[in-house]
Amino acid sequence: MPRTQVVEAYAGTFSFNVKRVCWYLDSQFCAPFHKLKQSLGSPGNARLLIWGLTYGVTAIAILFYFCLVATIVMRTLHCGVCEDADERDAKGAHVDDEDGDGKLSIKERLAAIVRVIAHWNPVILTIFILMLILPPVITTRIFQPCFDCYDFEAAALHEIGHFLGLGHPDNIPDNWLTPANGASQSWALPSPGNNSYHRLISGALLDGTRPNPSLFCNNPWAAVEAGVPPGASKDIDETKLNVRYPTRDAQMESRTQHNPRTCLFDDDLEALAVLYPDCNAKSALFESVCHNINLNIGIVRIAVYLLFPTIICLFMVITCSSVVHGFERREAARHRAKYEQEKELIEAKHRKQMAKSRLYSAFGKFGRCQMRAAGSTQSTTYPSVPAAVTAQSSSPSAQFMAIAEH
Ligand SMILES: [Zn+2]
Repeated sequence: MPRTQVVEAYAGTFSFNVKRVCWYLDSQFCAPFHKLKQSLGSPGNARLLIWGLTYGVTAIAILFYFCLVATIVMRTLHCGVCEDADERDAKGAHVDDEDGDGKLSIKERLAAIVRVIAHWNPVILTIFILMLILPPVITTRIFQPCFDCYDFEAAALHEIGHFLGLGHPDNIPDNWLTPANGASQSWALPSPGNNSYHRLISGALLDGTRPNPSLFCNNPWAAVEAGVPPGASKDIDETKLNVRYPTRDAQMESRTQHNPRTCLFDDDLEALAVLYPDCNAKSALFESVCHNINLNIGIVRIAVYLLFPTIICLFMVITCSSVVHGFERREAARHRAKYEQEKELIEAKHRKQMAKSRLYSAFGKFGRCQMRAAGSTQSTTYPSVPAAVTAQSSSPSAQFMAIAEH
């Protein structure tokens, strides 16, 4: 049998580019993000959705806090634009003007800031702080590495496949090796290869039986055919990204950036059985054995980039809530003192009015006695007591009651 010159890989240099390419280790954690790429049709669509959600949620939170800050600024500047009904008391005085001098001091302005913040439920403030901080952190620190970086384990497995002589089954003829100068070389094939399968191995696996290597190990290429095995539809995913023609699932697919799978597939083992035949029926391997190890690095990243910011936000809100509670206690004491002061004033006024009323009543009695003594038949109220006094004498208690109720 004449010798034929073939392309042979006998050594190689294996290196990972860490300058322009990023890598991730937790394949299990990043796998759902790659599925999102597939379900949305392309990595670009998935990136658009994630960044759209990130910007949308953050923009809502920024808008909320912009409105809150604008409200605080307007309130502290006392400009009166968009003034709320609760900014004025029953007498029409501004509630922020605590001493009633018509001007806001620094202390009153600070109290006004706390008064505006106290208006909001702390839970809502917490939610909006989280909406402001978490989406960019999650997207840039958790989603983006899985989107843009390469799976270290899957890439290493893939490149070892190239060492062993396997090409990409799904992007022929892109991996067709031709001389750079176009000159004819003995090692360059005149035409690109085919995606192919081994008829006996794939047929046995499809039937659910173990292939018998003694039937083909001495001349494995004899049963190699172009295309995909008839009936292998379960291994053929038509929804894969950038599908050109039907191929079976394989580790050697050209999409290493979007490939989170770290196992060999039947297609890969079939190719290895053709290139490196094993005639031992017991040791020959035709079905993949895949051990997935959960590294849980993704969970640690979530803890670092999600849990810690959340705890810091909660701490901020609790601190803010404590300040508001202190302010509320001070407000309650201030209102109580103001109420007691007004109550005292009204009671003093009422006592004064009652004294006046008693005085007029005494005058009335004195006048009636005089008229009776004069034999007058007139029994009406002493004319010198004005009607307004009678009405006024009853008004303080009503006035006090109205204020007390208020
Ligand atoms: Zn490759």
